[in-house]
Amino acid sequence: MLSAMRLLRKYNREMAALALIAALSAGYVAFSIPEYHDNAIITLIASLVALSSITALTDRQTIRDQEVKLNVALNNMSQGLCMFDARGRLLLCNERYMEMYGLTPETAKIGGTLRDLIANRKAMGTFDGDPDEYVDNLMERYRLGKYHTITADLADGRTMKMVNQPIANGGWVATHENVTELRKREKEIAETRQFLELVIDNVPAAISVKDAKELRYILINRAGEEIYGIPREKMIGKTIAELFPDKPAAVINARDRQVLDTRTSQAFGEHKFDSPHRGTRTHLSRRVPVLGNDGNPQYLLLVIQDVTEQKEAEARIAHLAHHDPLTDLPNRAAFNEHLAQTLERCEKADQKLAVLCINLDRFKDINDVFGHAIGDELLCEIAKRLPAVADGAFFARIGGDEFAFIVADDKLPTSADWLAECLLASAAEPLEVQGHSLHVGMSIGIAMYPGDGADQASLLANADAALYRAKADGRGSIRFFKADMDQQLRERRALNHDLGSALERNELVLYYQPLARVDGEIIGFEALVRWQHPTLGLVPPGMFIPMAEESGFIIPMGEWVLREACREAASWPQPLRISVNLSSAQFRHGDLVGMVYSALFDSGLAAERLEIKITESVLVDDFDRALSLVRRLKSLGVHIVMDDFGTGYSSLQNLQSFPFDKLKIDRSFISNVETHPPSATIVRAVIGLCRGLGVPVLAEGVERQTQLDFLAGAACDEVQGFFFGRPQPIAVYAAIVNGEDTAGEDGGMERDLIPGKRRKKRTAA
Ligand code: C2E
Ligand code: MG
Repeated sequence: MLSAMRLLRKYNREMAALALIAALSAGYVAFSIPEYHDNAIITLIASLVALSSITALTDRQTIRDQEVKLNVALNNMSQGLCMFDARGRLLLCNERYMEMYGLTPETAKIGGTLRDLIANRKAMGTFDGDPDEYVDNLMERYRLGKYHTITADLADGRTMKMVNQPIANGGWVATHENVTELRKREKEIAETRQFLELVIDNVPAAISVKDAKELRYILINRAGEEIYGIPREKMIGKTIAELFPDKPAAVINARDRQVLDTRTSQAFGEHKFDSPHRGTRTHLSRRVPVLGNDGNPQYLLLVIQDVTEQKEAEARIAHLAHHDPLTDLPNRAAFNEHLAQTLERCEKADQKLAVLCINLDRFKDINDVFGHAIGDELLCEIAKRLPAVADGAFFARIGGDEFAFIVADDKLPTSADWLAECLLASAAEPLEVQGHSLHVGMSIGIAMYPGDGADQASLLANADAALYRAKADGRGSIRFFKADMDQQLRERRALNHDLGSALERNELVLYYQPLARVDGEIIGFEALVRWQHPTLGLVPPGMFIPMAEESGFIIPMGEWVLREACREAASWPQPLRISVNLSSAQFRHGDLVGMVYSALFDSGLAAERLEIKITESVLVDDFDRALSLVRRLKSLGVHIVMDDFGTGYSSLQNLQSFPFDKLKIDRSFISNVETHPPSATIVRAVIGLCRGLGVPVLAEGVERQTQLDFLAGAACDEVQGFFFGRPQPIAVYAAIVNGEDTAGEDGGMERDLIPGKRRKKRTAA
């Protein structure tokens, strides 16, 4: 355009006109291409100015043609256009401009001032602000001859963009474009972009983008900052070599290049990455080349997932699936797997194999007496001690206090026997746990492949049967499996199963054993439960009570015993005492005091006639709770008897701090009290101690006159034993409870019984 004007001055006008038309045509074409819009308009306007100055010199018809074309172009523009002279008078304005601002040829009069025009727009509501201030401002800019753009939001919601371009004669040309939609779109794009940035930033995987040429970072999300341990401001614009030590940088570069060279995305499976900031991490990564229109890579997209914690958690879970969390020994599942593998190997190699099942003796007592924390620690100590003896044999904890070894060698069964002996010897050494020196014995059952079983299940079951026999034969024994053991174990399991329905089938019965004063007077009875099994007959409590304690059946069973004993005793004409055993499980579960109260209330038995027997284990579990329960039971009026004194963990402190009404010396001290001086010393000491505390003593297991004589001599208060009567159905003792004379009757007793306070007979003293 400029060159056309220069030509106009320098050479002849025809040539210049031609150049001008060429420029006009170029401007017109450019006008139709949106990107060149603004330039095109300016070109057209400038052409118009030039055109008017050469009008006189060119063919008028041609000029008119051009003028028509130009008018068509002007009025078909999507922008509004107006042109002012140096004094701010309107030279030209197109239809679009008038339409945009609600003007008419009158209100946008050619020759009118910008001030009038703006005032008219203000009147039409298409101008916001102060017209004078606006015009002054604008005129000042034009005076300085500055190109500028203004974007204004109109009151009607439209957004207009104005481009003001000074022109040669001192005036200016302005284009107005409605950019409302464009603005909206721009805003939407900005919002979308913000949203996408938010999404990318919150994706838990690290996302980064590098330019394909120099591999400099151009984008990194937050997870990326975390993975690299570098803030993004420090990464953007840098290459990996500028950020990381040579070795990891070279690895990353090689991978990047590989993907760019092949132009295909690539996943890199689990790989270690030595992060200078976070140690060795495990990554999964995917690289995607982003190709330009020419098919060449423009960017490289990298997505990294840090799976370090996930992998660690998986490893932990896998470990837990095969290990016992307490001792970290292989668990039952691992044991089964190992046994299956070893069996397969032995089968192929025609080799023997032994399974040793180990159960700790009296572990329950330790748990009861010292609490579960010490019980747990003891198990951990055992778990450390036994493998040291085992010389590499596979060792697992397969249950609470059950452990197992697998031994496969050529020297079986000798080697299994030897190992078992060593284990017993090692267990004989006390274990120090939290300042306590604990003795825990063990029983061991052994089954061998192929003799005792060809598969895993039968080997384990038979080792278990042998263990059961070892326990039954006395703690601290070793037993190899024999065919008949299997049968016994099965019977035991069947018994356990039957016990569950013993109550509802009315198979439980109470037997009663007399309690006497040392002078022989019967003062009460102890209720002892029996199970009348439909096929096995009368099952003694020593057989089924441990099962009931294990299964929890002891709770309903214990309640039944208490209610039945109270009901029975309440029916006796003689107000004799009734003594009932309480398991420690009953102390731990449910509302014991409420249950005792309701048994007394329902039966009508006077509380003073009820004696509740508890063992020391009750106190050790939770001393404060037990103390509170005992106090509340006593406040009902019932008597508390401490049972089995001398077995387990009798402590003088318990004696002192618990409000017992009576203490019962275990029959193991009485069985040889007259012939075994140490027993006699202990019994005398306990009786003396209790006298000091004001607590009466009951000696259990009195079978002979000589024992009674000893106890009378030691000033024992009460006695119980076969000498006075065995546990029997209450009918056997009908005469006593009814207060009748029993002389001449026997009832299976070693001596005559003396009912109630009615008769006092020979005393041993
Ligand atoms: P315990 O409470 O110490 O009961 C005394 C046990 O000693 C009874 O055995 C009784 O038959 C036996 N006995 C009594 N006098 C003599 C004697 O002179 N010589 C010998 N050798 N034994 C004597 P039983 O009835 O077999 O009960 C064993 C254990 O079973 C009881 O010991 C008690 O701990 C438990 N038990 C019995 N009935 C119940 C019950 O209803 N509930 C609870 N929780 N335990 C019970
Ligand atoms: Mg006892």
